[in-house]
Amino acid sequence: MICLTLSDSTLESAAKRVKENRDYIDICELRLDYLDESEQRKAACFPAMVDIPVILTFRRPQDGGKCGFSEKIRRAMMVSALEGDFKYVDIEEDVKRSEVEDKAREKGVRIIRSLHDFEKVPEDIFSKLYHLSEKGDIAKIAVTPRSFQDVFTLFRVEEELKGVDKIVIGMGDYGVCTRILYKKLGSMLTFASSDEVAPGQISAEQLKLEYRADQVNERTAIYGIIGNPVLHSASPMLHNRGFKGINFNAIYVPFLVDNVRSFFMFAEYVKMRGFSVTVPFKVDVLSYLGNVTREVKQIGSCNTVVRVPGMWKGINTDYYGFIKPIVNDIENGRIKNALVIGAGGASHAIVWALRNYGVKVTILNRTLSRAETIARINLCDYDSIENAGKYSGAVDLIVQTTSVGLYPDVDQNPIEGFKFTGSEIVYDIIYKPKMTKLLQEAEKAGCQLHFGSQMLLEQGKLQFEAFTGYHYPHWVDSGL
Ligand code: NAP
Repeated sequence: MICLTLSDSTLESAAKRVKENRDYIDICELRLDYLDESEQRKAACFPAMVDIPVILTFRRPQDGGKCGFSEKIRRAMMVSALEGDFKYVDIEEDVKRSEVEDKAREKGVRIIRSLHDFEKVPEDIFSKLYHLSEKGDIAKIAVTPRSFQDVFTLFRVEEELKGVDKIVIGMGDYGVCTRILYKKLGSMLTFASSDEVAPGQISAEQLKLEYRADQVNERTAIYGIIGNPVLHSASPMLHNRGFKGINFNAIYVPFLVDNVRSFFMFAEYVKMRGFSVTVPFKVDVLSYLGNVTREVKQIGSCNTVVRVPGMWKGINTDYYGFIKPIVNDIENGRIKNALVIGAGGASHAIVWALRNYGVKVTILNRTLSRAETIARINLCDYDSIENAGKYSGAVDLIVQTTSVGLYPDVDQNPIEGFKFTGSEIVYDIIYKPKMTKLLQEAEKAGCQLHFGSQMLLEQGKLQFEAFTGYHYPHWVDSGL
């Protein structure tokens, strides 16, 4: 079930929010601690105002809530609210036998026995969960993973506590994947909100439409992207839309990772079939691969990992994604000389691709030694980015591969003042924003433009084929 957490100040606006999200949710949680005081006293009316089951929650500050009353008053208000037709009530694990519990049992309201930890994942999490479920209640833990190893621990809950009714949530950025893959954790629901009531919460619409999180079953294949940071990635949108388009029972999830080793252990555990790799792990993954393509060997980095019998195989689709939009111009002789700005991971694959097609390349970078390293491997020239002006009028293609101009620093240009002649093809691999400052200036001069979103789409389509064995469905809007 997808559960919408309601953090409204009035019952009317909470009911309105349920209506707005009705297509995406199965249940909602009324947070009494967010309601105005006069509304709190009318909370018993709320279940009759909506057409889905409601959880009653009155959160204390130590559990991340805003309730300002004494414990005695809080409980009295919960008892009074339970006059309404709530289906569940959340009672914190340290609240011993209380009048709230008695009232809930008398009325047949199911108790959710909850434990919160905003600092960590407690070591004895399995026994804690078991203890919470002892009276036949639903055991709920909302804890904070501090590493990917902690996330892995949460995914093991289902194996350790099969058959126990439970809600398992990893909060914060590491925990986002647990909210999406809640069914794989054996969690009976996941919480969604439109204003991130708890750290890491995502919207109900995204969970339902983008991830189809509620459709996950034991046969659903898990794919994803590892990186740090990773939650901004556009790849989940692209791949999940593709899966939906071909009716493929799979889900693609962003995994914030701090350690590649623990991720490979996890990938084996949940039987992943493949995943994408982004900064800073494109080199780190190499030592876990049993087989790599020629491009991975020569470029020295891998952005796609797929399962093949007995091992993981590494592919590099970045180079292909980059070259696809300009390959005709290279083949028909329009592009012979290129200036590549930047000498990071992406530049390495791009320089390799251009050299592979016989284009003469000069690399410009702020740190000269990094440009020199790529130039040596690929037999090309290099120079300091400060000398960019020297190359005006001398190249057919300019490729921008630095992170300068990337959102939110959209008014920056790594070669400010460069004189475009108008005959250059200018390609900026940044995809957020689509129209970078550099591209705006190139457009003013009449240059032909290429965008980072084209590269992302092409490399993603090839990845999709490697993951599924099918072409990316042409009738689907990838969102890029
Ligand atoms: P990276 O390995 O960290 O390299 C960053 C590059 O930017 C280096 O050349 C660095 O120069 C340069 N740089 C950073 N700050 C600078 C500054 N203030 N002034 C001048 N140069 C600066 O990153 P990456 O993986 O290559 O990615 C670079 C960009 O490409 C990112 O924006 C990423 O989103 C984008 N990208 C797009 C796609 C796509 O499919 N469209 C794929 C991959 C990457 P130094 O060496 O001097 O530090």
